[in-house]
Amino acid sequence: MELNKEQLKILVTGGAGFIGSAVIRYIIQNTQHGVLNVDKLTYAGNLESLTDIKQSTRYYFECVDICNRSALDRIFNQYQPNVIMHLAAESHVDRSIDTPADFMQTNIIGTYTLLEAARKYWLNLTEDKKQHFKFHHISTDEVYGDLHGTSKLFTETTPYAPSSPYSASKASSDHLVRAWQRTYGLPTIVTNCSNNYGCYQFPEKLIPLMILNALEEKPLPIYGKGEQIRDWLFVEDHARALYQVITQGKVGETYNIGGYSEKKNIDVVLMICQILDQLLPRKNGQPYHNLIAHVEDRPGHDKRYAIDAAKITKELGWKPQETFETGIYKTIQWYLNHLDWCKRIQDGSYQRERLGLTYHGN
Ligand code: NAD
Repeated sequence: MELNKEQLKILVTGGAGFIGSAVIRYIIQNTQHGVLNVDKLTYAGNLESLTDIKQSTRYYFECVDICNRSALDRIFNQYQPNVIMHLAAESHVDRSIDTPADFMQTNIIGTYTLLEAARKYWLNLTEDKKQHFKFHHISTDEVYGDLHGTSKLFTETTPYAPSSPYSASKASSDHLVRAWQRTYGLPTIVTNCSNNYGCYQFPEKLIPLMILNALEEKPLPIYGKGEQIRDWLFVEDHARALYQVITQGKVGETYNIGGYSEKKNIDVVLMICQILDQLLPRKNGQPYHNLIAHVEDRPGHDKRYAIDAAKITKELGWKPQETFETGIYKTIQWYLNHLDWCKRIQDGSYQRERLGLTYHGN
């Protein structure tokens, strides 16, 4: 990657996923930095989410598993990154209950393998480059467990108490990253964020699932009574926060990132139904909420998550630009205007591009 001294070379893992692709679009469109996307392209990886920027001469792609140490060593040597933004993960809680092995492999072993490759590379840098190197690990508020029965918020010092195989694997990866900082001095930063929503989210997650099921006149399945409370953050606000963390964040610190927007799942779904009633009324004249179907709750389901994002606001000046009301409206409009992107996921054609994948870059 040929860049000048002011331009960072940012290695993003999981850049074909929902948040990773938002981060890459943000960096390529709003800065002069270069990005190398390292992604294995699991079912959740979709290069079509990067169509807007894939022609940029500052964007490169490598189809690589983060558990593959020799491939990572080659990539570090070849691209010489100054910043790592580690997002690659298995991320869907329901899948972690059905098939936990993939979560242990990628989220724990994959993070360990990446840390070791990064450490070896970092140790061989010149003193100046060593000092400016950063390893940013992107994690979730789910590591803190359940806030049921209290009005408290998660802060950066809340003890970890993960409930699901997903959150336990992410908690493990957070511990590994902090241990590599403390034991080896690797310059790391951890961020823990609340539920994201927005454009290009894989349709297995709550908000896109509800939008697409409603449009197809399918039931809108809600766990139990839908009383679970989550804090919601628009994905582009998260991407901006992550960029601020790599450019202004302090090594060794943790930053919680949240949307100041606690909502019950049932209220999120009712809001989606109301907006769809306005934008695209059902042919039978009935409201979309008639499609809601309550299903048996997920085992171990946490009742409430809520983030205190005061630290990142105070120290880095970040705060969300979207409210849930503006963000959900934009999200629904985006899905209505990108049904072709959704259809290619639903019929599996989005995965075809990867079969003959050969390109390294634009
Ligand atoms: P996602 O499932 O949409 O994307 C994950 C990406 O990682 C995919 O492109 C996939 O192909 C890639 N990947 C998976 N295993 C890999 C491997 N072994 N090697 C290389 N690439 C691999 O996930 P997301 O929602 O974009 O989440 C990204 C990160 O942010 C995750 O670490 C997640 O824990 C964290 N996070 C997500 C949320 C949320 O609401 N989605 C909230 C807080 C934190």
